[in-house]
Amino acid sequence: MALEDAKNQMDHAFTRDDPRGPSFELTFGGATSFLRRRYTKDLTGVDIAVTGVPFDQAVTNRPGTRLGPRAIREASSLQAPDAPYGWPFDVLSERTIIDYGDMAFDYANIPAFPDTLTAHIRGILDAGAASVVLGGDHYISFPILKAYAEKHGPMSLIQIDAHTDTWADDDMSRVDHGTMFYKAVKSGIVDPATSVQIGIRTTNEDTLGVNIIDAPEFHRIGPAAAAKRAREIVGDRPVYLSFDIDGLDPAFAPGTGTPVWGGLSSAQAAALLRGLAGINIQGGDVVEVSPPFDTTGATAIAGAHVATEICQLLGWRMRGGA
Ligand code: MN
Ligand code: MN
Repeated sequence: MALEDAKNQMDHAFTRDDPRGPSFELTFGGATSFLRRRYTKDLTGVDIAVTGVPFDQAVTNRPGTRLGPRAIREASSLQAPDAPYGWPFDVLSERTIIDYGDMAFDYANIPAFPDTLTAHIRGILDAGAASVVLGGDHYISFPILKAYAEKHGPMSLIQIDAHTDTWADDDMSRVDHGTMFYKAVKSGIVDPATSVQIGIRTTNEDTLGVNIIDAPEFHRIGPAAAAKRAREIVGDRPVYLSFDIDGLDPAFAPGTGTPVWGGLSSAQAAALLRGLAGINIQGGDVVEVSPPFDTTGATAIAGAHVATEICQLLGWRMRGGA
């Protein structure tokens, strides 16, 4: 395939024959899927299933992330023709990545939502694929992590975020995007000693023993040193990477529910993620993209790039890091 093919290819989301390789169709038209991957519920032979979870009923402030998966897919169409920049390989060409579509759930039955999501991810993992989830608010990481912990045992978490999301939830049952990692640590599905939160710039007295590279320290040491420290913290343990888009500064990601100043730039986030190459990553998510507050579209663009980089990190692990 070549750029010339853009003249006669369209709707690769359901017309592409080869699941691998770049996609040349009009970036501004056609059916949107993540990076123009095939939109399918068939997990046979799939390495990475990208799936949307349009859930935003756990937020403390501004809503809107239910529209995140759709916006991230649309923003990703501009990246589909090219190999991701700055890597010595292209996961789109090496691995079978599909768009698994969005998860179905009853929007009016919140108590049923967590188990529905865990089952959704369990189905992907049981088929032998990794999941990359487009959120949705950050609560979704907790039911997702449950499925990963069932398979791998306690996970090491790498979280990029302005917030720790480990505020206390004593009865362990609230559906809340600020307490789900408290529950994840307390219930043993995340191992705090081998987990790290990067970009934190909100106060939380009890961080449950999770390692923290807060935003001031990140800015002092830079993305390469932060990535090196994160790699040392997780070692070779199975890693789940969760990227809350509010880890970025509001200048780079205004479209989010709980923006906090002093965050990472897009360039720093790119350098940080590429610096994580070599970790034993099993899956990841990008959450908290809220299109109604995304006045320029920059937040969805950042979300699409983050999801692509997570796919690259997975591809790097799948090829044995060589
Ligand atoms: Mn946050
Ligand atoms: Mn968060």
